[in-house]
Amino acid sequence: MSGHTGIPLPPTDPLPLGPLPGSRYPDPHIEAIDRKRFKGSAGTGAVERVATGFRWAEGPAWFRGGNYLIFSDIPNNRQMRLLADDNHLSTFRSPSLNSNGNTVDRQGRLISCQHAARRVVRTELDGTITVIADQYEGKRLNAPNDVVVASDDSVWFTDPTYGIDGNYEGLKQAQEQPVQGVYRVDSRTGAVVRVVDDFTQPNGLAFSPDEKKLYVVDSGLTHGGSAHIRAFNVDLAAGRLSGGQVFAEDFAPGFTDGIRTDIEGNVWASMGWADPAEDGVRCYAPDGDLIGKIHLPETCANLCFGGLLRNRLYMCASTSVYAVYVNTQGAALP
Ligand code: MG
Repeated sequence: MSGHTGIPLPPTDPLPLGPLPGSRYPDPHIEAIDRKRFKGSAGTGAVERVATGFRWAEGPAWFRGGNYLIFSDIPNNRQMRLLADDNHLSTFRSPSLNSNGNTVDRQGRLISCQHAARRVVRTELDGTITVIADQYEGKRLNAPNDVVVASDDSVWFTDPTYGIDGNYEGLKQAQEQPVQGVYRVDSRTGAVVRVVDDFTQPNGLAFSPDEKKLYVVDSGLTHGGSAHIRAFNVDLAAGRLSGGQVFAEDFAPGFTDGIRTDIEGNVWASMGWADPAEDGVRCYAPDGDLIGKIHLPETCANLCFGGLLRNRLYMCASTSVYAVYVNTQGAALP
């Protein structure tokens, strides 16, 4: 269907919640490229649309104790909460200062990146907010995007410019940092150290289950750079990274944004933006082989494993959140 300008209009019948149209067992939305290694299907399960009505869903984080998902709706300046028990959806925090990436630390506390405030914050168990990082070497951060916590409680986050590039996903503000870096925050001293400085736009990040690797997305395609995932060697005790070779490429003209790993070390990456046939999730084996895909009707920005057994993959995809039971489990927390 086209409007009078010739621009295709969106479907007049919005997708309902529940299994996607065309779903059956096995669900054709789940594509195994390597049947031995890809664990994207639990067998008798289908990809479901579990929530909708957002402008840009991002930053899913799973709270095991409460059996719910927290995620960001960045342009709507709110964080949402989806209860797994009855699929009840509510606003967790508004305004969220255009929060983006969220995670849960080892003590069960929410850690969030806030575009508009250009900072990473922790929501304490009594509800108060603690600033974890908002500047480096006396200058304001750009706009922290995504965050992970290591087993030594150190906090690692990316700092691209998306949240200060305009007034839609944040606030248009001047950049003070000379680069778009990746940072580590020491859990004991609170010291913030830039550990990587050669990205165009660092974005999602995830540790391998043994924490020997840190995968970091470069979504720099949006700013004339690359669209790939790099793998760094981690010296956790020293708080240092080395290496950084390209692990998976080249996603252009699309790109990945958020990533997570499972207990076998596979890397699950959001995908979208350019080709509707590629919208969804890709799964890469630890050796970099593409072993499977999950196809979604919308561009996917980020994902996380949830459920009591960490075997339900939640996918934040544009206006909706999708979920599917998989035959593996997310690595550690979240
Ligand atoms: Mg992101």
